[in-house]
Amino acid sequence: CGIVGYTGLQDAKEILLKGLEKLEYRGYDSAGIAVKNEEGVTIFKEKGRIADLRAEVDEDVSAHTGIGHTRWATHGVPSQDNAHPHQSASGRFTLVHNGVIENYAILKREYLQDVTFKSDTDTEVIVQLIERFVNEGRDVEEAFRHTLTLLKGSYALALLDAENTEVIYVAKNKSPLLIGVGEDFNVVASDAMAMLQVTDQFLELMDKEMVIVTKEDVTIKNLNNEEVSREPYTAELDA
Ligand code: GLU
Repeated sequence: CGIVGYTGLQDAKEILLKGLEKLEYRGYDSAGIAVKNEEGVTIFKEKGRIADLRAEVDEDVSAHTGIGHTRWATHGVPSQDNAHPHQSASGRFTLVHNGVIENYAILKREYLQDVTFKSDTDTEVIVQLIERFVNEGRDVEEAFRHTLTLLKGSYALALLDAENTEVIYVAKNKSPLLIGVGEDFNVVASDAMAMLQVTDQFLELMDKEMVIVTKEDVTIKNLNNEEVSREPYTAELDA
């Protein structure tokens, strides 16, 4: 299973699909991408191979920001509905997740009794919580951080907000995730191999860090909202 993300000047969907192909070796049962442009967020997802997903992706949808996922099902059978990305009730937030949220049932009962879920995944709880906290008046970054403080378990996450073009919110805890740094773009990947196609400069992330990624900037913070500074390293080019 794996995660990729891209925001920059190029068309995101081909970079995301190529990245997912590089992550195929990790194993998966479904795959999906979400791309964002001025018209909003468009999701393509399928049970089965990346080749099946590729066949479904509309060549005419061009976008400069997007996220992608290969799923190894832990909660909910492999199916198109359970494949990632998952969206919040209003469709504003779109999320991919690797890992397991151990307390998802408790969170669902405590905060989301009135929300109609579209999947059987533990993941959907995360994206519905973010929207709940935004609806209660928090800004998106704060809602994301507050949600992270409630999660027990493992996660690598990438989130899109339909109302804010070109930002990818990222977080990790006990699941691998890296930021790849470029001239006029930045990327997200579970494994540097997925993004060697565009950069060999990567930033390591520590557990319980969150990141705000735009094409110009990468801002890493801890869950106390303190900024963390870190230098990129050069990844080996033999992948
Ligand atoms: N627990 C999530 C699910 O079952 C994510 C699985 C994964 O790591 O791909 O959908």
